[in-house]
Amino acid sequence: MRPKLGQHFLADESVLAFEAECANGAGKSVLEIGAGDGRLTAKLLSAGAGHITAVEIDPKLAKALRMKFQRQKRVRVIEQDFLEFEAGRPFNCIVGNIPYYITSSALLKLSRMDFEKAVICIQKEVAERLVSKPGTRNYGRLSVFAQLSFRIEILALVERGSFVPAPKVDSCIISLEKTGFTLDSSTEKAIGALFSHKKKSLRNAVVDARSELFGSTDKSSALRIAQTLKYAGRKVFSLSPQEILATASQLV
Ligand code: SAH
Repeated sequence: MRPKLGQHFLADESVLAFEAECANGAGKSVLEIGAGDGRLTAKLLSAGAGHITAVEIDPKLAKALRMKFQRQKRVRVIEQDFLEFEAGRPFNCIVGNIPYYITSSALLKLSRMDFEKAVICIQKEVAERLVSKPGTRNYGRLSVFAQLSFRIEILALVERGSFVPAPKVDSCIISLEKTGFTLDSSTEKAIGALFSHKKKSLRNAVVDARSELFGSTDKSSALRIAQTLKYAGRKVFSLSPQEILATASQLV
């Protein structure tokens, strides 16, 4: 086992079956992120997945996967870092127990991929941040990015003891459907800059974020932007994803 690669294998058969069932991949093309030893892959096959592309970074596991599914024409194993994987075509469904250390980058990558539905298992705290509403403690940059990019549903809690070896945190299975909106990277950065001042009024946050983004000390143009915002007096963390987006788009 290589803990650095987030290798925690889901050992609860009923959770694996539930995840495969939610993915609803029957007859469809499925991409699996971090297929490990193929236990979820096997469940996806028995749930009737049409074709599975199984991406796995660890050469040893990728080799074992190829052996395990060598007679199975519906499985293709790709030994690669998912973050570098170029899909080249849409998938009906994306599934995976996502290694913790790549969660944010994997979500960003998913927002730029073409799929109908993703069913993924991620750290519980991150799942909670994804669905957090404005004004609540966990609401932040990740919530805004995620809610602009996806319709998100938390489907189930998976306790740490369901994995071998057990990680230090609990997980959640969530589903994602794309909203059709893709956040570009400079606007995403601007959102991050606003949220580094999340307790300030938007007016002040805009001034600080702009000088951070462009290194400019000229406050007047930032204040001019702030004047056009209806909600300039409200605190950053109380604004909806759409309101944050409207502000960030003016900053870049
Ligand atoms: N799908 C299996 C394994 C989950 S553990 C199960 O459900 O039990 C996460 C898996 O992702 C590990 O096999 C790990 O080697 C792999 N992995 C880690 N980083 C990865 C990356 N960047 N790209 C693809 N796979 C990765």
